[in-house]
Amino acid sequence: MTIFKKIINKEIPAQIIYEDDLCLCFNDIKPQAPVHLLLIPKKEIPTLDDLSEEDSKLMGHLVYRASVIAKEQGISDVGYRLVVNVKEYGGQEVHHLHFHILGGRNFSWPPG
Ligand code: AMP
Repeated sequence: MTIFKKIINKEIPAQIIYEDDLCLCFNDIKPQAPVHLLLIPKKEIPTLDDLSEEDSKLMGHLVYRASVIAKEQGISDVGYRLVVNVKEYGGQEVHHLHFHILGGRNFSWPPG
């Protein structure tokens, strides 16, 4: 079981920002920006590569919810970054699909 599934199950604590039937948003334990949240589906999907067409509505819900959370967090006026790391070269460490919502500072491009 991944660490994120344990957070969903409330077996380990997290600072939860938002929760509904489909998703959970909480503070990243090692923030890389003044605001660094993780938004995850409750459904166990290891990577972005494991999506099936039936997940399209779920993913739409997550992206919309990310935009609402960014506004609520006060990071959307100047802009922020929404990131999905995918597998080894993408830098994915936890194999439960997640969006990073990063804001509160300026981000460079291209990423490292
Ligand atoms: P990734 O490298 O895209 O898989 O990102 C995994 C993220 O999960 C990292 O930014 C970690 O800091 C974060 N993380 C790992 N364990 C926890 C935890 N228990 N609570 C909150 N965030 C965590």
